Amino acid sequence: MPSRLMPKADIEALFARFEAANPHPQTELNYTSPFTLLVAVVLSAQATDAGVNKATKELFAAAPTPQAMCALGEEEIRQHIKTIGLFNTKAKNVFALSKILAKDYGGTVPKDRAALEALPGVGRKTANVVLNVAFGEPTMAVDTHIFRLANRLGLAPGKTPRAVEDGLLKRIPARYMRHAHHWLILHGRYICKARKPECARCLVRDLCRYPDKTG
Ligand code: SF4
Repeated sequence: MPSRLMPKADIEALFARFEAANPHPQTELNYTSPFTLLVAVVLSAQATDAGVNKATKELFAAAPTPQAMCALGEEEIRQHIKTIGLFNTKAKNVFALSKILAKDYGGTVPKDRAALEALPGVGRKTANVVLNVAFGEPTMAVDTHIFRLANRLGLAPGKTPRAVEDGLLKRIPARYMRHAHHWLILHGRYICKARKPECARCLVRDLCRYPDKTG
């Protein structure tokens, strides 16, 4: 759909505006290390960041490392996270991935996509978040917000998360890649919402290719 594709100059302008408005965007998940970030992202599937933060406050105080998480045990982990959706599966995965990190990686989180994706409960999206946020790699984790925005804006239209990921990696200028993921997520969460985008107060409205703008 060529007419929906945002031109290069507009992509540059879009990220320049995001950067000016929020030079150092952060994940809204609380974490203290690559390991706690990894656990927080695993717990965040089908849960809000606020809900995850509430549960991890005590979990991370009790078990900030893979070794400590193993010592805590699966049942205790389950007790800490039982307010989060899918807590049974997530407790199993957090315990199992902690065992692997403690045994095979000396308690560190590998800076390697294949190794991350081999961990229980860790898919491509989680690996992308960890590589980007913990290690500064220019990856793009496509969640529901980014998928919607890439299509609405005309930034990288695509039918699948992977097609959108590839399109974004190709089209976003390298100097914005470090923070692009957070700018897009925050824009999707607070302005370009799924049901009713707030186009009237959108700072990139004139650049956006969405034909059904509101306001
Ligand atoms: S103008 Fe509307 S549809 Fe386009 S990015 Fe802004 S909020 Fe989203």
